[in-house]
Amino acid sequence: MNIENLLDLVKTYNASEVEIIKKAYDYAKYLHDGQMRQSGEPYITHPLNVAYILAGMHADRDTLCAALLHDTLEDTNISKEDIAENFNKTIANLVDGVTKISKLNTSSKTDLNIANTRKIILGLTTDVRIIIIKLADRLHNMRTLQYKSEFKQKENSLETMEIFVPLAYYLGAYRIKQELEDLSLQYLKPEVYQNIAEQKLKIEADSNNCLQEMLKSIDNLLFEEEIKHEIKVRTKNIYGIYKSLEKGHKLSDIHDLLALKIMVENIKECYVTLGLVHSLYHPINSRFKDYIVSPKTNMYSSLHTTVFGPNEKLVQTQIRTFEMDKIASFGLITYWDLNKGEARVKMQEDLKEKYQFFKSLQDINEMFRDNKEFVNQIKQELFTDKVYVYTTKGDTLELPKGSTIVDYAYKIHTLIGHTMVGALVNNEIVPLGYVLQNKDRVRILTDELSFGPKEEWLNLAKTSNARRKIREFNRKN
Ligand code: MN
Repeated sequence: MNIENLLDLVKTYNASEVEIIKKAYDYAKYLHDGQMRQSGEPYITHPLNVAYILAGMHADRDTLCAALLHDTLEDTNISKEDIAENFNKTIANLVDGVTKISKLNTSSKTDLNIANTRKIILGLTTDVRIIIIKLADRLHNMRTLQYKSEFKQKENSLETMEIFVPLAYYLGAYRIKQELEDLSLQYLKPEVYQNIAEQKLKIEADSNNCLQEMLKSIDNLLFEEEIKHEIKVRTKNIYGIYKSLEKGHKLSDIHDLLALKIMVENIKECYVTLGLVHSLYHPINSRFKDYIVSPKTNMYSSLHTTVFGPNEKLVQTQIRTFEMDKIASFGLITYWDLNKGEARVKMQEDLKEKYQFFKSLQDINEMFRDNKEFVNQIKQELFTDKVYVYTTKGDTLELPKGSTIVDYAYKIHTLIGHTMVGALVNNEIVPLGYVLQNKDRVRILTDELSFGPKEEWLNLAKTSNARRKIREFNRKN
């Protein structure tokens, strides 16, 4: 990998701005001159790879320059002002942001580290690109972890699972998330990883004929119908399989171990394609999911249908538009491509409006002065398992696992919480302490003349949002 590779890649989507990127590379190379990585390579290979990962996601000019310079403030003796003068203020701010959060270490509990964790998390609120650069930085460090000590390998892998994997998930960057998961598992549980990897290879080899046969049949049919398309075989990542096995599934029963991914040009064609697939292969109705009508909380959209393929083999088929596929791979980062120019602003705006993660983050930030409490709350609410339920409108709502009706009501609206008198889940009346399960359909019953939240609701609420609102109400009344 060299600078020419990077520039060639950038030229495929942004030919007019390669000069400044070359300049950032030369500057970083000069500054890091003489420094080596533990692999024995010159240090510059690291920032270069980080920039390459980002260019693969069509990052904008400032992000790429900042990626190339991301370790210069920490490892060389230039200042933020030097970068601003030689390049621009935005690049300087990005590098500074990445530097501030890079000393993050969640496994040790000193106050400084905790304060740093808060910064990394709040980095999202100032400029989300800081977090995206940090993710790429972590990805390259994980890819080259074999040169570190065993202790460091385990420590970094744990931290990756705790902080960076959830961040990648919240931004919808599945591709980065899956690679980070697999790399971490490889160091945390080497035998388990090896074992699954081998079995997976075997199953893939066994299923290859079946999948190729399906791929050809569907390909032909779509061709006849003149629907422009692309079909790919997608395999679940090792960590995903590991999680399914942990839940007690057998490897042979994991229905989405192998999937066919069909991409078409628009939403109408998605549904037409769904019908065509079903005309060839019989679906299992219970496994049909329409994430186009109800996208996941991180904006993932697609149709999922599991069908009986050749030899009665169960195969999951995912149908989506090319644009949805980009979002599925890179999440929020896709905006770089879809909205050239104002991409940055749009990313930051959409983060506020569409991504539920971000709203909870702001809530928690407003509530906790103390860094330690803030970080604990974040870990408890955002970086733990989630439960997904449906509102009466059919929207999906995400809550921390263990959340109750009280949490749900306050997440919908403060007034709904304050006037709640009861609740229905899947058309049955439930107590307010009912713990929500995936796919529950929840309806809150309200009465304007209700007495308001009771003191004991505090014990039923799990989220800080609900608790705070109940306390506020009680203080005022
Ligand atoms: Mn770095």
